[in-house]
Amino acid sequence: AAKAAGKNQIAVFDYTLRAERLHRAEIAAGLRKALAAGELSLAYQPVVDLASGGIYAVEALLRWTPAGGRPIPPDVFIPVAEDTGLIVEIGGWVLEQACADAKRWHERYGIAVTVNVSGRQLRERTFRDAALEVLSRHALPRNALTIEVTESMLLATGPAETRRVVDVLADLRAHGVRIALDDFGTGYSSLAYLRTLPVDILKIDRAFTAPLTGADHRRARAFTKAIVELAASLDLSTVVEGVESREQAAVLQQMGCPLAQGYLFSPPVSPEQVDDLLRVTPWRHAA
Ligand code: C2E
Ligand code: MG
Ligand code: MG
Ligand code: MG
Repeated sequence: AAKAAGKNQIAVFDYTLRAERLHRAEIAAGLRKALAAGELSLAYQPVVDLASGGIYAVEALLRWTPAGGRPIPPDVFIPVAEDTGLIVEIGGWVLEQACADAKRWHERYGIAVTVNVSGRQLRERTFRDAALEVLSRHALPRNALTIEVTESMLLATGPAETRRVVDVLADLRAHGVRIALDDFGTGYSSLAYLRTLPVDILKIDRAFTAPLTGADHRRARAFTKAIVELAASLDLSTVVEGVESREQAAVLQQMGCPLAQGYLFSPPVSPEQVDDLLRVTPWRHAA
C-alpha cells in the first residue's frame, strides 16, 4: 500500500489528512470525558526575577493523562479543545484550580499565578464576570492573577472580534488583573500595535532564546535587547521564555531583562513540588 501510495503524492497526502482527522476525533471524544474522569491536572512553572533569583509568579500549564494511557501534550489537545468548544469548560476548571492552588502561595510568599486563556474563552460573554468571581471567592487580590493571551489569538478573528476581546482584557486590567502577551515575536502584529494593547507583560517566545548564545549571537542579542527596552519604555515588564543555560540567563540579566522562565530554573512541576520549591529555596519575592 505504501508503495502504491508512494507513486501518488495526492493519495499520500489524503491518507495523512484522513488519519489526522481520525486522530482529532479520538482526542475530542477522550477530552469530552477527561474532566469528569479526573484526568486533567495542572503543572506549574516558576517565573523567576533575574536580579534576585526570587520566584515572581508561577504559570499554570494544563496536563492530560488519559486513564491507563500516556500524557498527551497540550500542543496536541488544546487546539482540539478550542475547535470543539470544550476549552470553555476546561478553561473554567483551569482558572478555578489555579486560583485555589495560588491562594496559599500568594498568602505565604506574595507570588502571582498566570493562566493561559484562549480566544474562544475570552469571546464567551461570561468570562469577565467569571474571572472576577473566582478571585473574590478565593479572597485573592486581582493582581494575584495574570492572564496570558497570544498575539495570534488576538488577531485571529478579524477587527470587530479583536476589539471585543481587547475590551474584555482592558476591563479586567482596569480591575487590577494583569495581562501578559504570550509567545511574543511569533505572530504578525507590529511593534506599533503593541502600544494599543491592554497588556502589562511581554513574554518573548523561546524561539529567541537559543540564538542568544548561538553563532549569530550579536544580532540575536541586539534584537532581544531592543524588545526589552521598548517594552520598558512602554512600562511593560518582560519575561523571556525557554531559558535553559546559565549563559543565556547572564546575557538576559545584563541587557536588563527583568524576568525569565525555563528549564534552567525549573521545569513545570506539581503543586506539591511548588510548595517544596518555595520552602527550600532562598527565593522569596518581596511582595
Ligand atoms: P506557553 O504558554 O508558551 O507555555 C510554555 C511552554 O514551554 C510549556 O509547554 C513549557 O513546558 C515549555 N517550556 C518551559 N520552559 C522551557 C524550556 O526551557 N525549554 C523548552 N524547550 N520548553 C520549555 P507546555 O506545557 O507543553 O504547553 C504548551 C502550550 O500549551 C503553552 O505554551 C500554551 O500555549 C498551551 N497551554 C498550556 N496550558 C494551557 C491552558 O490551561 N489553557 C490554554 N488555553 N492553553 C494552554
Ligand atoms: Mg503561557
Ligand atoms: Mg509562550
Ligand atoms: Mg506557546
